[in-house]
Amino acid sequence: MNKKQKRMLRRILIAIALFFATLILEKTGLIAAVFGPAEVYVAFALYFAAFLIAGYDVLIKAWSNIRRGDPFDEAFLMTVATIGAFATILFPETEPQSAEGCAVMLFYQVGELFQSYAVGKSRKSISEMMDIAPDYANVERDGKLEEVDPEEVAVGSIIVVKPGERIPIDGIVVDGSSQLDTAALTGESIPRHVEAGAEVISGCINMTGRLRVQTTKPFGESTVSRILELVENASEKKAKTENFITRFARVYTPVVTLAAIVLAVVPPVLGMGPWTDWVLRGLTFLVVSCPCALVISVPLSFFGGIGGASRLGILVKGSNYLELLSKVDTVVFDKTGTLTSGTFNVVAVHPEAGIDPDYVLSNAAYAEAFSDHPIAVSIKRAYSGEIDQRHIRDVREESGHGVSAVVDEHVVMVGNDKLMAEHGSSWHECDLTGTVLHVAVDGVYAGHIVIADVVKDDAAQTIRDLHAAGVKKCVMLTGDRRDVAEAVAKKLGLDEVHAQLLPEDKVSAVERLLRLERGDGKLAFVGDGINDAPVLMRADIGIAMGAMGSDAAIEAADVVLMDDKPSNIARAMRVARKTMRIVWQNIVFAIGVKVLILVLAALGIANMWLAVFGDVGVAIIAILNAMRAMRVER
Ligand code: ADP
Ligand code: MG
Repeated sequence: MNKKQKRMLRRILIAIALFFATLILEKTGLIAAVFGPAEVYVAFALYFAAFLIAGYDVLIKAWSNIRRGDPFDEAFLMTVATIGAFATILFPETEPQSAEGCAVMLFYQVGELFQSYAVGKSRKSISEMMDIAPDYANVERDGKLEEVDPEEVAVGSIIVVKPGERIPIDGIVVDGSSQLDTAALTGESIPRHVEAGAEVISGCINMTGRLRVQTTKPFGESTVSRILELVENASEKKAKTENFITRFARVYTPVVTLAAIVLAVVPPVLGMGPWTDWVLRGLTFLVVSCPCALVISVPLSFFGGIGGASRLGILVKGSNYLELLSKVDTVVFDKTGTLTSGTFNVVAVHPEAGIDPDYVLSNAAYAEAFSDHPIAVSIKRAYSGEIDQRHIRDVREESGHGVSAVVDEHVVMVGNDKLMAEHGSSWHECDLTGTVLHVAVDGVYAGHIVIADVVKDDAAQTIRDLHAAGVKKCVMLTGDRRDVAEAVAKKLGLDEVHAQLLPEDKVSAVERLLRLERGDGKLAFVGDGINDAPVLMRADIGIAMGAMGSDAAIEAADVVLMDDKPSNIARAMRVARKTMRIVWQNIVFAIGVKVLILVLAALGIANMWLAVFGDVGVAIIAILNAMRAMRVER
């Protein structure tokens, strides 16, 4: 509980004590014994004092809203209703409602306190889950360590991360080896081993060894900062359901106010009973009508869902995406790096007659030197020699085709059939199933390298899970060869596969699938962010995976999976559906109970006490329900 909440609690407790003291003195007849006929006025004064202690801020808020010309909110409803109840003192022939007026305000404030506590708590647990922001970095200067604000560390500095510390900035290990706990980022509990040469990402905890790390990014662009930014902005993108609630409350409040006035005025004018009776019903009606449960619990549910998802390493950029995710019935996957591991092994090198296999491999490795494509990374790994980057210039990467570069004054091209055809080089087909990289030097075909990667462990299970969860179609798109694509599709049980696509073909394939969408169903595209940013943007929801470190993906996607495990897609959908279920439960429950008590109030069956109990009770139940959204299985 924070200071403000503590102050409010104290006020409420004092007011409650005063309220009960007055109630006891009144009911035992003590006030009447001392003050005689002035009894009601004394009781009134005491109740009114308790009322002011508990609720003066509500009155102030209502007044300032009226002055701003925007009076219709809960504060207004509460003020009018409670002041109205106290005003019964002016009608000597009726039973005064001072105790009721005071109690209404007390209960309302208890509810408010509970709400602010719940919101604060869920916000805190999100920031705790996201408690990945480092406080300092140990920078090495002249052999000595200095604790510095991470913001002030220049790119390329050497920092030291001791066991137990959090890695403050993204970088590359220069020496030392250790186990990293990445759970806060990815939800993955198995530690990751790192040693010299490995990339490390800020936010992970260094568990065992001392690491010296050369930073590769400023703090502001490091993974930690990006994630925090993303989570903080998530509440700005509102779901349709949420906007609906806001609009609803705006129309609803004036309408019930009007209804209350009609209820108070029309029947007595028509001679259907005494004024006081109907005015009281009107006031009760106002108390009941408070839409607080709805207004607070719906955003809180979304908030909880986003928080729960982030605990699994699933970052959802806004509640609108959580809502869309719950409606997904078509999932389109990119192949390389998404369904397959993206680490290719060299299966075979087939040089042309008279050419050394090493010549083919080294030329390929040189040409790929500057590329981040999984193929390039794998080729560089397979090549045993050093790559001297000074020998390379004019590098051009053609996405979906391959790369070309000038290596030692020779034009080297590495890529698929399309690349060769485009540049007028001949090539030989290969019988092996696998991704084929043709290599041509100065337009002369040198041979090809056959590489293959494996499908991820949990890919087949994910497809089964998605089907079981009601996803109708799982589609794979790839720029790779048809035989490779079909082999993967068969292994995984995909419904549809499209091969040999250029990045722009992937966009049109997704557009075609979008046109096939019926009703409420939504289409999600899952990619690894390498040359599929346009598709990520085009789909109803773009999901980027394995995003620890990939900036393009974090920008373009709506949902970011920190891990590269496809099974998180099914998990993300489960969280989304659970959240939406909770949201709708709250909406139906809150409106249902409200309507019921409103009807009872209009009929004169519900008194003010029931009205308050109903209101606070519904709010508390809805809030507790909303907080369920935050709990997820790891
Ligand atoms: P995917 O759709 O499987 O993710 P991409 O669209 O990234 O694949 O690439 C499609 C094809 O383009 C690859 O299978 C490969 O033949 C070729 N290609 C793309 N980038 C490169 C590269 N850097 N080096 C060689 N070939 C490449
Ligand atoms: Mg790709």
